[in-house]
Formats: sequence, structure tokens, C-alpha cells
Amino acid sequence: MNAVNTMSTMSTAPARRTKKKVCRFCSDHQIYLDYKEPKLLSSFVTERGKIIPRRVTGNCAYHQRRVQEAVKRARLLALLPFTANYQP
Ligand SMILES: [Zn+2]
Repeated sequence: MNAVNTMSTMSTAPARRTKKKVCRFCSDHQIYLDYKEPKLLSSFVTERGKIIPRRVTGNCAYHQRRVQEAVKRARLLALLPFTANYQP
């Protein structure tokens, strides 16, 4: 049983070493996060206009919330798209 266990652990893929993502806004206080910065906000949305999750961007909860709020505001002002390729 013990042997089987060690075999199974050996056969599993090595643990993925991921670089520790750090919140961009926490590490650089010069960045001004605002809905009037569509260029900055566009780096937090996909091509289709969806907001990229925190686990991908590495934002902290506080700043992800600010990003989310800003993106939604920017959408209402047509600074960012709600969706891509929309044909009325
Ligand atoms: Zn942060």
C-alpha cells in the first residue's frame, strides 16, 4: 500500500512553479486608477470586453473592486465596450 502511494506521487506531474503575482496598484502608487483611464482599464478586460478575474491579473481584492467599478463606469460612458462585434 505504501509502495503504491509512493508510486502514485512519483507519477504525478511536478508542482507548477508560478511567479507570485503582485497587485499592480499596490506595488506602484503612481498609477491613478479611474474610469477616465480607458487605456489602463483595457488591460483588465478581454478582447471581448469581459473583466479579467483577479486570479489572472493578480490584483488584490481592494483594487480589483476599484477596477471593476471603473470598468463599469467607463462602459456607461462608452469609453470601453460592453461586448465586441456588436451589430445593431
Ligand atoms: Zn492592490
